[in-house]
Amino acid sequence: MSIRENLLALKSQLPEAVTLIAVSKTKPAEAVKEAYDAGQLDFGENRVQELVPKAAALPADIRWHLIGHLQSNKVKYIAPFVHLIHSVDSIALLKEINKQAEKNNRVIHVLLQIYIAQEETKFGLSFEEAEALLHSEAFLSMKNIAVDGFMGMATNTENMEQVRKEFRSLKDFAMKMRKTEQDFPLLSMGMSSDWKIAVEEGSKMIRVGSSIFGGR
Ligand SMILES: *Cc1c(COP(=O)(O)O)cnc(C)c1O
Repeated sequence: MSIRENLLALKSQLPEAVTLIAVSKTKPAEAVKEAYDAGQLDFGENRVQELVPKAAALPADIRWHLIGHLQSNKVKYIAPFVHLIHSVDSIALLKEINKQAEKNNRVIHVLLQIYIAQEETKFGLSFEEAEALLHSEAFLSMKNIAVDGFMGMATNTENMEQVRKEFRSLKDFAMKMRKTEQDFPLLSMGMSSDWKIAVEEGSKMIRVGSSIFGGR
């Protein structure tokens, strides 16, 4: 199937309130353009070095999401235009994002990446660390940051009950952290293999790469 067909098939299964981020990492700008021409506007990349040249080469109305680990010294390259950073995992990084956002006279929207998997390799904060960060003086004094919610990656396993439990734990945490009853934190959960479960567990943003663009 073509990128266009993959996208339309996926979208037809997705509730309207859920945003699809097409993860275009390692794929050429032409592949992004093909998805864009099929109506896709939200794209995710996990490396700044790859995101910046693609953003320069592609239509300006694309909303670029940074979904991979971000080093503080790279924030300045994406600060002028990034739509949402899903992968904030330290107060030091948040400080730098706030500083660069101020320089660009804008508010940068971010998610805190929470470590929910039973794996050693994933980045992210524990629930305790995220809670401490959100209550810290340093965070509360930042004027150019909006924390919209949380991102989590489930364990890469066939055991879908475990995956479901991990997503549910992040949803429960997000509900616990909200400031008012009307506040609904944004949850970025779910990839090609597990997005259906993520949506059942309350995800509002899924990050799908290989099901759209093919294997990497
Ligand atoms: C690569 C990546 C995805 C997409 O993975 P697929 O299995 O190709 O859908 C989602 N989220 C993050 C953080 C990624 O790095």
